[in-house]
Amino acid sequence: MNYDTDNIFAKILRGEIPSDKVYEDDYALAFNDITPQAPVHVLVIPKGEYISFDDFSATGSVEEISGFYQAVQKVAAQLKLQDDGYRVISNMGANAHQEVMHYHLHILAGCDLGRMIKSGLAE
Ligand code: AMP
Repeated sequence: MNYDTDNIFAKILRGEIPSDKVYEDDYALAFNDITPQAPVHVLVIPKGEYISFDDFSATGSVEEISGFYQAVQKVAAQLKLQDDGYRVISNMGANAHQEVMHYHLHILAGCDLGRMIKSGLAE
């Protein structure tokens, strides 16, 4: 699969559509999810053209990867999420229902998030 430069997060990065920005640096942009699944639901995306966690991890530079994950921590710190905790999720591909084909991490917080996924999937 090739990177689609018309995906919605690419348009947000180019400023073609608005986002509710939370944080930005050289490596990452963070903004509130348009359909929040928790009281805090922030998406963090790398500035480069990467389709997924798999693509970014395999082909991103060491600088991009370290800069991106440091940005994720900075977002959590900025929102003061460390004390009560938070969850970081990345959906990759069809089984995980990845909808937007620009790599992103979800930061979820602000309440008891329950167990990681619904029970029974391994049965
Ligand atoms: P995923 O299933 O991991 O690809 O999740 C994509 C996420 O992007 C969903 O949680 C959507 O609610 C969110 N989303 C889609 N369009 C926008 C947008 N324009 N601004 C903010 N979040 C968006």
